[in-house]
Amino acid sequence: MKRRTILKAGLSLSPLLPLGSLAAGHSGQKNTAQVLVIGAGIAGLAAARKLHDIGVDVIVLEARDRTGGRIHTYTNWRGPAIDIGASWIHGAGPANPVAKLARKISARTVITDAEKAELYNGDGTALNARDEKKIDSIRKEISEVIVEQNRRGPDSSLRKLVYAETDYDTRPPLEQRIIDFTLNSNFEHEYSGSADQLSRLWFDDGSSYTGEEAIFLDGYKVITDSLAAGLDIRLRHEVSAVRYDEKEGVSVETTQGGFTAGAVIVTLPLGVLKAGNVRFFPALPPQKQAAIRQLGFGVLNKYCLLFPETFWNTSLDWLNHLPRSGHAGEWAEWVSFARPTGKPVLMGFNAADFGSKIETWSDDKIIQSAVSTLSTMFGKQIPMPVDAIITRWKSDPYAYGSYSFNAFGSTPGQRDDLARNITAKVFFAGEATEKKYYQTVHGAYQSGLRAADEILKLNIRR
Ligand SMILES: Cc1cc2nc3c(=O)[nH]c(=O)nc-3n(C[C@H](O)[C@H](O)[C@H](O)COP(=O)(O)OP(=O)(O)OC[C@H]3O[C@@H](n4cnc5c(N)ncnc54)[C@H](O)[C@@H]3O)c2cc1C
Repeated sequence: MKRRTILKAGLSLSPLLPLGSLAAGHSGQKNTAQVLVIGAGIAGLAAARKLHDIGVDVIVLEARDRTGGRIHTYTNWRGPAIDIGASWIHGAGPANPVAKLARKISARTVITDAEKAELYNGDGTALNARDEKKIDSIRKEISEVIVEQNRRGPDSSLRKLVYAETDYDTRPPLEQRIIDFTLNSNFEHEYSGSADQLSRLWFDDGSSYTGEEAIFLDGYKVITDSLAAGLDIRLRHEVSAVRYDEKEGVSVETTQGGFTAGAVIVTLPLGVLKAGNVRFFPALPPQKQAAIRQLGFGVLNKYCLLFPETFWNTSLDWLNHLPRSGHAGEWAEWVSFARPTGKPVLMGFNAADFGSKIETWSDDKIIQSAVSTLSTMFGKQIPMPVDAIITRWKSDPYAYGSYSFNAFGSTPGQRDDLARNITAKVFFAGEATEKKYYQTVHGAYQSGLRAADEILKLNIRR
């Protein structure tokens, strides 16, 4: 028998058969399926696609009015398609499953190059050759401290380790600025957690694919749209409760009525699980609750500014900014979209503490702050942007942040606790459940496939 036939046969005999009858919900559509998937981000779509394609009856319940979750391509402004969630396929080599998907659908991608970068001094003066050398040597010093101290001794925050080992308090102001800049741009922007919360033992635990850093010219949504095609996805269905029973199956309450199934895959972001807005009956097991509490969920925000024309060196991809004293963590990184898209667009990033703090500012205040930073980098005469897109991921009620990180006090094994199914009825996926490739689109995608496989294997074995 071919694999496809085995799986179908297994399912037809399995307890995934729906509870009750195929009753109609509020909309007149059926509200019973073999499997419910909560969340139409890449993890949920990957799981639903896999199950659907081998003949399982799946309904996806999504709170937003769109699919993609933390993949969100913005096309509704005067500039090019801009990803205000994930942008890059990190390590777009042949092994990366998202790169494979992109090739399969002939997505238009372009490589950005971290070597095409320049660092600008936030105090308005140019960095001289001696400063540049200092920056290189401090960055090296910090990497050595991390390599030497990592995975040994009791845990603490990354900042505590780096400050202690570099004698931060005794260093001159420029060197302190460089240490803070490195902590922010190399670690907080990458991992989304504050250096005060990143675990010095585990913050960089995990794996990555080799290859270039690729972005999508038509937006990351080309991937999620291709996965979503033909699936039964119910938008604006915010889930408030999941009830499960080993014998009976599961029932899920949404803003548009109840749904029942033999099993459910929960792909809620860790931020949403932490907020406790979705209740589980019975309550989640203690280990899973501890993982939800202790793993970190951080912030990376994006600020896309469309200018009337370029005023920066358009051969560069990264324009970095060394904040002046007292402004650590502010506007440290910018990406130029001039080379990839031909448009005068700069995207600024703020992560962790400052990224969270300015979510309460008005758009105008944020734009003023961004432009004032750019004018210390490029001169007072720069024009005002003609359009802007500003993200506030921490305030987003369907994410409450950008992605997970290994917080001081958590362990990488807690991601397995988060991923573990309950009574073979409630399955978990999403980037935070992926021990090796958490934080990423490819990690979330693989977690969805893993959860779908788990359902298939467990139900075939019965
Ligand atoms: C600003 C930013 C930049 C990033 N950059 C990159 C990058 O360049 N490369 C990369 O690989 N990764 C990046 N990431 C991370 C990447 O976007 C995520 O890891 C990935 O998209 C997560 O997918 P997911 O399916 O696990 O979660 P999500 O995409 O969040 O999907 C979960 C879904 O559940 C829905 N939901 C929430 N609450 C409810 C509810 N109560 N009821 C029903 N549905 C609900 C949500 O609306 C969402 O659609 C970035 C993320 C952000 C925010």
